[in-house]
Amino acid sequence: MAAECTHLDQVQVMELPDPVEGCEECLAQGMSWVHLRMCQTCGHIGCCDNSVGKHATAHNHETGHPIIRSAEPGETWSWCYPDELMMELRAE
Ligand SMILES: [Zn+2]
Ligand SMILES: [Zn+2]
Ligand SMILES: [Zn+2]
Repeated sequence: MAAECTHLDQVQVMELPDPVEGCEECLAQGMSWVHLRMCQTCGHIGCCDNSVGKHATAHNHETGHPIIRSAEPGETWSWCYPDELMMELRAE
């Protein structure tokens, strides 16, 4: 595990959409999800690993976009897949 994330230059999206519609793939396939995550490179909304679809992780595998953040109300943490690092990113 790295001490520091080296992928911050790939963070393009800080803020969640308002409203958060839901996991894009789950909505398309009529599936339900547990928690929502947002890709901080492209803004894709996917579901967490406790959800059946695991679409946030699937998006990471498909695109290589490294960092997601929680899209749950009141949660501000981000997660870097390649570094396996949890962190707080703040808009300056
Ligand atoms: Zn990283
Ligand atoms: Zn999903
Ligand atoms: Zn993405």
